Amino acid sequence: MTDTTTTDLAAPDAGLPGGWQMVIGLEVHCELSTATKLFCGCPNQFGSEPNTNVCPVCLGLPGSLPVANDAAVTYAMRLGRALHCEVKPSVFARKNYFYPDQPKDYQISQFDQPTNIEGWLELPDGIRIGIERAHIEEDTGKTSHVGGGGRIHEAGYSLVDYNRAGVPLVEIVGKADLRTPEQARQYVAELRSIILAIEVSDAKMEEGSMRVDANVSVRKADEPYGTRCEIKNLNSLRSLVRALDYEARRQIELLEDGERVIQQTRHWDEADGRTHTLRSKEEADDYRYFAEPDLVPLDPSAETLAAIDASIPTLPADRRQALATAAGVTPVEAAMAVERGLDDLALAAIEAGANPARVMTHVEHNLAADEAVRLDAANFAGLVTMETSGELTATQAKQVLAEMVETGGEPGAIAAARGFEAMETGALESLVDEAIAADPEAWAKFCAGDAKVTGAFVGYVMKATKGQADGKAVTELLRRRAAG
Ligand code: ZN
Ligand code: MN
Repeated sequence: MTDTTTTDLAAPDAGLPGGWQMVIGLEVHCELSTATKLFCGCPNQFGSEPNTNVCPVCLGLPGSLPVANDAAVTYAMRLGRALHCEVKPSVFARKNYFYPDQPKDYQISQFDQPTNIEGWLELPDGIRIGIERAHIEEDTGKTSHVGGGGRIHEAGYSLVDYNRAGVPLVEIVGKADLRTPEQARQYVAELRSIILAIEVSDAKMEEGSMRVDANVSVRKADEPYGTRCEIKNLNSLRSLVRALDYEARRQIELLEDGERVIQQTRHWDEADGRTHTLRSKEEADDYRYFAEPDLVPLDPSAETLAAIDASIPTLPADRRQALATAAGVTPVEAAMAVERGLDDLALAAIEAGANPARVMTHVEHNLAADEAVRLDAANFAGLVTMETSGELTATQAKQVLAEMVETGGEPGAIAAARGFEAMETGALESLVDEAIAADPEAWAKFCAGDAKVTGAFVGYVMKATKGQADGKAVTELLRRRAAG
């Protein structure tokens, strides 16, 4: 099952000057959407009154003991399998550090025996990005610095909310396989799609249930990796792209001035568009890891793993491939429909005989994300067929589709109610004749091959039919008339 092949990357261009290349590895923390926390029975709930979802365990009171949450462990393994990882027997470890958001003064995490190792995910263009590990750990509490614009050093005082302390997390450590900010964006978007598909988290970057840290360094092509910096506080895909671009250019400037890049953790400031020094980078030794004595190791049985595998639905990469094959497009062209959850609808409509190109156009331009649930696939296919058979113009089809989404109605009935009757070819022909008769000068130009005057005739027919005629059909009739 495990595929440890590393893809030989074609090194896409990050647009950096002087032959410099960016090397990016992402660490993504994802909160699992279990009912309760990782080691206690407190509710795992965002937005509650501060310090109400707490107990002796998640407050780290002396004598309290953790018990691992079975659902959280299962979710973490499901995520590992969806990322093509090997699920290994694993051990919880104490990661020791002193910070007020961590009431025990250590975080229960995993160290040398993580649950998931050696996986990969596939970007829409088929490039595979390696996953080194995806381990289970508990979240910290949340501090708010009051006064001084919310910055810790200028603040008057700080508040701490332990509702988040002990919420289950999976930390997904990607390999340094990414070469451009755009690839990094695609990686996070893909990871998010997978997490949503397997329903282990709501993966909301803006609420912090999915958080991205980026390791970035620069080098000249084929040289060894340079010294990296880690950027924190990337809470949107836009911030991620901007921060990577800024940080790579900062490092290039240093190196070209003959200076060194210092390994450190930096903070992205969305307002000024720069990264700032936060602290020198910790090494594993600084955390004095040791095996957590209060928890047993995790060692899932073959049956457990088989049940987890069986619970994984078709993943975005396979969905892109399926839609691409059915619609006759590339997986990249099918990506938007899959990302917006409209691929099942598109597949069903194509299966029902609707024109694939028109289906893809509607799915990409005329439907919002998740509107598929409000559309019957057979009705959607019916609409597309009315359009391709000439019963409805493109504009009319769009209006009918919008109403179908609103009301769940049937396309024929909506078109009839709106007076979108198919225009009889005979009626259209006589209107074209009228238009020609009304402007013989323009007609002479059209016959002489001047396509610029086409609009005048189409405009005449459109005005006479209050926009109901099919512009393409009018143009076609004009051509036929001109050809004699
Ligand atoms: Zn608790
Ligand atoms: Mn972590």
